[in-house]
Amino acid sequence: MPIKYKMMKLEHRFVEFIPKELENNVLYISIRFRTVIHKCACGCGIKTVTPLSPTDWKLIFNGKSVSLDPSIGNWGFPCQSHYWISKNKIEWASKWSKKMIEKGKEESKNIKKEYYNSDYLKKSKDDSKPKRLWWKFTWLFNK
Ligand SMILES: [Zn+2]
Repeated sequence: MPIKYKMMKLEHRFVEFIPKELENNVLYISIRFRTVIHKCACGCGIKTVTPLSPTDWKLIFNGKSVSLDPSIGNWGFPCQSHYWISKNKIEWASKWSKKMIEKGKEESKNIKKEYYNSDYLKKSKDDSKPKRLWWKFTWLFNK
């Protein structure tokens, strides 16, 4: 186990492919795969994948630093970290209770449902978006 320490700052790096070995304190941004990946900021080292899409995360790049919206909740990890990435800084948020996590999951499901049922997507011929996204991730990591 690596020494645990809480990160306070990240350095962003625009890349085409995400490297297999991630460096600490680096936020890898692949515009091509619409994905941002970093090691969990608590120091546990687990890869945190934040897909960029209208229903997932938004990346804000002001030319100097990046922010991700909404917050990152690593509920699936043992550490259960919850933080914001704001202008390359980690802002630690409070841990969520189980009830809050369930509620959050439910809300994001509803957002997705609304989005995928919307006219915007009906007009689009591509109705296999989620599948394709996962296929992309697999490919990304096998490189
Ligand atoms: Zn962690």
